[in-house]
Amino acid sequence: MMEQYQHVKDQYPDAFLFYRIGDFYELFNDDAVKGAQLLELTLTARSHSTKHPTPMCGVPHKAVENYIDVLVDKGYKVAVCDQMEDPRKAKGMVKRAVTRLVTPGTRMDLKGDSAQTNNYLVAVTMVNNGYCLAYTDLSTGELKTTRFDNQTSLMNEIINLSAREVVEEGSLPDSLVNQFKKLNILLSHQDKLLKDSEVAYLTQKLEDDDVKRVVALLVSYLLTTQKRSLAHMQMAVFYQPSAYMKIDHFSKHNLELMTNMRSGKRQGTLAWLLDETKTAMGSRLLKQWMDRPLIDKSAIEARQDKVQVLLDNYFERSNLQEELIKVYDLERLAGRVAYGNVNGRDLIQLKTSLEQVPKIKYVLETLDAPALDDLAKRLDPMSEVAGLIDRAIVEEPPISVTEGGVIKDGYNTKLDEYRDAMSNGKQWIADLQQKEREATGINNLKIGYNHVFGYYIEVSKGNLNKLPQDRYERKQTLVNAERFSTPELKEKESLILGAQEKSTALEYDLFVKIRDEVKGQIKRLQALAKALSELDVLQSFAVVSENYHFVRPKLNHDHELNIKDGRHPVVEKFMGHQEYVPNDVVMGKDTDILLITGPNMSGKSTYMRQLALSAIMAQMGCFIPASRANLPIFDQIFTRIGAADDLVSGESTFMVEMMEANNALQHATKNSLILFDEIGRGTATYDGMALAQAIIEYVHNHVHAKTLFSTHYHELTTLDQQLKRLKNVHVGATEENGELVFLHKVSAGPADKSYGIHVAKLAGMPQSLLKRATDILHALENEHEEDHVAGIDQASEQSAATEPATKPSQQKEPAVEDNHQEKALAEEDNGQLELFAPTPKPHMNKTDQQVVKQLRKLDLMSMTPMDVMQQVYQWQQKLK
Ligand code: ADP
Ligand code: MG
Repeated sequence: MMEQYQHVKDQYPDAFLFYRIGDFYELFNDDAVKGAQLLELTLTARSHSTKHPTPMCGVPHKAVENYIDVLVDKGYKVAVCDQMEDPRKAKGMVKRAVTRLVTPGTRMDLKGDSAQTNNYLVAVTMVNNGYCLAYTDLSTGELKTTRFDNQTSLMNEIINLSAREVVEEGSLPDSLVNQFKKLNILLSHQDKLLKDSEVAYLTQKLEDDDVKRVVALLVSYLLTTQKRSLAHMQMAVFYQPSAYMKIDHFSKHNLELMTNMRSGKRQGTLAWLLDETKTAMGSRLLKQWMDRPLIDKSAIEARQDKVQVLLDNYFERSNLQEELIKVYDLERLAGRVAYGNVNGRDLIQLKTSLEQVPKIKYVLETLDAPALDDLAKRLDPMSEVAGLIDRAIVEEPPISVTEGGVIKDGYNTKLDEYRDAMSNGKQWIADLQQKEREATGINNLKIGYNHVFGYYIEVSKGNLNKLPQDRYERKQTLVNAERFSTPELKEKESLILGAQEKSTALEYDLFVKIRDEVKGQIKRLQALAKALSELDVLQSFAVVSENYHFVRPKLNHDHELNIKDGRHPVVEKFMGHQEYVPNDVVMGKDTDILLITGPNMSGKSTYMRQLALSAIMAQMGCFIPASRANLPIFDQIFTRIGAADDLVSGESTFMVEMMEANNALQHATKNSLILFDEIGRGTATYDGMALAQAIIEYVHNHVHAKTLFSTHYHELTTLDQQLKRLKNVHVGATEENGELVFLHKVSAGPADKSYGIHVAKLAGMPQSLLKRATDILHALENEHEEDHVAGIDQASEQSAATEPATKPSQQKEPAVEDNHQEKALAEEDNGQLELFAPTPKPHMNKTDQQVVKQLRKLDLMSMTPMDVMQQVYQWQQKLK
């Protein structure tokens, strides 16, 4: 057996081999050692007697799916090797073969939350001028392909797809392979390109040989590994990434479209807010739309028109929702039908889903809106399929398809007879006895049964002469009687005796036929699923638009941006419509940049994000959180959220910041949207400020994208004097009863700059300290007026993106440098507070210095007001 095992294992060296023996799947050797650890199984050994026992561990076959899931979730492959014949009947070694290979990219039975997301398998090939990519979700049959001219865009797409497995031919450069490893993406090798008819069919719509090839690679891999029908796969479609708004994955992450930055969960994301879909397929489509917002104005408006109708008609919309709730995941059902692993329950789900379609169609028709005509037409009720299932399958079928009880009475005469025979066997015999008595006139004729002879007709010796010779065949002779059989009785006998067995076998045959019939309709089923998902997403847009007071935005190609009362939909949802302070965003044709200033926590980041989210929502076809809006159609969105707010990147944040900023500067067009949130915070003050200014100038002079730039460098607000396409806005704050109140209101002009000291005052710091801080600030400001121009000019000559963070000691020192301790402190901090650092404080004693040192280090953003109170209280005690 181990020989057989090894033979199979050699074909699947990179997978865990689950090898069926009796009621268990066993793992051997390295698979066993590693598997036992990953699956928390007990490791045992085979052949104890020999010197080298074989490590093994096993799982019961009934629970095998759970174990496979665990391994595949962790990014491994699992080959399942089954017994291909009944071990009791096998002569010699039981035949075994791998019946499926489960890999992270080819999982089908996704449950729970995973039902709402696609599981994509990707193939990548290298071509002359870049890369080709194909992807599929095996459970839905979606198959798409495209090409990229550089690695960054390719990786961006792969990350966007959340691919967990990439198929390759062995020609990918190491740089790419390493990135896959880093991202824990499994690399699967496929070297043979199959010339299968399936490949030809699926690639027939493609014109470009390179993309044909990458699709062929992907399909070959599926054919080699899956060993099942791919009938549900849809013909490959070429897509142009530039046909959609591009949002790189950093930005998707920053904007929290699908995952919350802190929790990594869905809650608090845009997807979470917008998803009022009623079906899992709708939920998946919504994410696809979010991933690829449109850039074609009329296509966006077509979606808006539909949303508008659904928004305006509350009752019809509620009706639609009620019907949609009853629609199951048709897309994945279609996939399972193709794979041949549906059971009776799945078919009932299919029927139930199909039964909703005429109702949904009817509601759409009563709305009588031209915008919805097309959608209504695409809703094909597939009544023959629904009818077939209705006639054939019982309402509550068992899970198993091989044990009977699946097919309805009245569907098949033969099956009815079997069932009749089973349940009415006795009655039938009694009837026959009666019939025979009447036919022969023998009143004591009886029909009996024994194990050896089966059913018989018994006639007493005295009546034998009344029996016609022809039909009766002698079976057994007793002292007083003879026992006979007739062809009819024989037939019924085998009917009754074999009824159970035959009926289950026939049921299975019938079931398979029905399943195949449904399989023949997969394409229609998929088209229907698509139409229903679209309707589901559109009704979801209508629901959120109503619930959260969204408005239909106008769209333009004129670089005109005007939002009245814009809101951040997610923040607003958390704090409530009443609490949220709406803000306008006004950037006419002649404005490229808004420079946003304002104290910490005033709402700068929120303001910027709300614009980006609104742009994405608008181009998905959804309405947006505002009271009126006119938006340019953006081709791309870039965001760079400054280091202070950067909760994610563990590596050198400043480097990441510069890389992302560079990405925006290199790739943005005048039709793009850029958000630069406190850029330059990650390095020393002047260094950062210099970069910030240079970046603004570069955008202003070369890029012309609509750009929101928030900054804590007030010095930059004077830029509006030189840069015609830049405007200052600020987020206000005010003092009320001795408390700093954030108004969250954005207004024209630069912010008042004394907030830092203001906050310190509110925190109750000693008067003398505050006075001192104000003096230092003035001194710095005066000096800075002189330094500013020279300092910046020098910096702007260097390349922004490649210049590493300068050490504090190399910085231009704005004040006298004679205090050792202060310098040490400054170097320790190496941040913005250094602005204050090199100033001598001769009258400070040791305690003062300690307090100042602690004050500098205080991370206000991570403290609660209570923490601050306590800290300040401690200082007061010290200073008394
Ligand atoms: P900043 O970037 O200026 O430091 P944030 O944008 O991070 O400020 O906002 C800080 C907090 O202020 C947010 O978490 C939110 O609770 C609140 N906030 C921001 N904008 C508004 C608004 N328009 N209305 C009400 N609250 C807001
Ligand atoms: Mg911020």
